[in-house]
Amino acid sequence: MVVNETQQQVRDMTRKFANDVIRPVAAELDKTERFPEEIYQQMAELGLFGISVPEALGGPGFDTQTYALVMEELSRGYASIADQCGLVELISTLLVEHGTPEQQQRWLAPVLSLETKVAYCITEAEAGSDVSAIRTFAKRNGSGWLLEGSKLWIHNAPVADLAFVLARTDPDAGHRGMSIFIVDLHTSGVRRGQREHKMGQRASPVGGLEFSGVQLPPEALLGQQGRGFHMMMSVLDKGRTGIAALAVGIAQAGLEAALDYSQQRKQFGKEINEFQGVQWLLADMAKDICAARLLVLFAASKIDANEDSTMTCAMAKCFASDTAVKRTADAVQVFGGIGYIQGVEVERLYRDAKITQIYEGTNQIQRMIIARELIKKGVTV
Ligand SMILES: Cc1cc2nc3c(=O)[nH]c(=O)nc-3n(C[C@H](O)[C@H](O)[C@H](O)COP(=O)(O)OP(=O)(O)OC[C@H]3O[C@@H](n4cnc5c(N)ncnc54)[C@H](O)[C@@H]3O)c2cc1C
Repeated sequence: MVVNETQQQVRDMTRKFANDVIRPVAAELDKTERFPEEIYQQMAELGLFGISVPEALGGPGFDTQTYALVMEELSRGYASIADQCGLVELISTLLVEHGTPEQQQRWLAPVLSLETKVAYCITEAEAGSDVSAIRTFAKRNGSGWLLEGSKLWIHNAPVADLAFVLARTDPDAGHRGMSIFIVDLHTSGVRRGQREHKMGQRASPVGGLEFSGVQLPPEALLGQQGRGFHMMMSVLDKGRTGIAALAVGIAQAGLEAALDYSQQRKQFGKEINEFQGVQWLLADMAKDICAARLLVLFAASKIDANEDSTMTCAMAKCFASDTAVKRTADAVQVFGGIGYIQGVEVERLYRDAKITQIYEGTNQIQRMIIARELIKKGVTV
């Protein structure tokens, strides 16, 4: 895949940062579940948050392909770090595409510097894959709004300052009755649930949020009332492409670790990479990772070209995350017994990969989208 000179420079800079700063502490972050503020500060200084925010609005103004390359390299260091980058990208894209000039002026700079930590809140106890089932609602209260409800499994909920919350504003209007609110989480009536302890990506804090009679000013409404579902969906192509790139980074780290180990470990008097059984594992890992990376960049290029990208982004998310799970399992296999021991990199990578098949829409949902688009539009890739 040809990447242009700028994309290559940003990728190389991110790779160096991941090698020097992220990878050395990945095992510690996984073990302690620590929020690595010092790494995020350095990333903010390097301009790695809000990659595609236009220069006129204070961002670096890179394209989606550059964003995908950055996500892969960060994740190759440690997936939780890439996850934070993906979250900021999603929120800043919402602000750029749908925010008023006042909202952009107020929030973009602190969000990109991570002075303001953000959360993106859709999921509820009864509304996971079926977003239309959300019950959180906001009703008019004078010129402002009153927010009631609760959200579940929200990335950054334990540490966030600001949440973008999908809520119902018209109970009878289905998808058209939802709006997005920008909620200051230090407001009275907001309660944080317990932090969850997860299988993988353990340095990404996840938890619940409850809103009981939270008073919101009129300017808390993002974009138009009733367009919330559409706005959330409009940024999901980019969100899914980011998660796909993150999955490629995990798989790539697994391949590198497995290749390295296969050159050191000897059995039957030979390095294990002299056995065809191990060679084929390595070959299949390399082949699938390469295919996933190309599909991710293809999906990103469609977003950049303003083409219909829904099916390609769903394909990229689905294929890359399935690849990450399957090929990190192969990496554990190459390590043999030691690959199953806590603290060994491939054991963590296998755990970190699993959630990529679930969040940002499960892979069953991605397959539904691919099939729906195929049936509706034919083979358009
Ligand atoms: C670590 C983590 C971080 C998260 N971060 C966020 C966040 O920041 N913000 C946020 O809003 N949410 C977040 N989520 C929630 C995540 O997006 C949901 O878990 C996900 O969308 C799936 O919803 P669910 O868990 O309710 O599963 P369900 O929807 O209950 O699905 C259960 C199973 O049924 C399948 N299924 C459901 N419907 C269909 C169908 N129509 N056809 C075929 N199969 C189907 C699913 O694929 C899945 O296998 C996070 C979750 C986790 C675990």
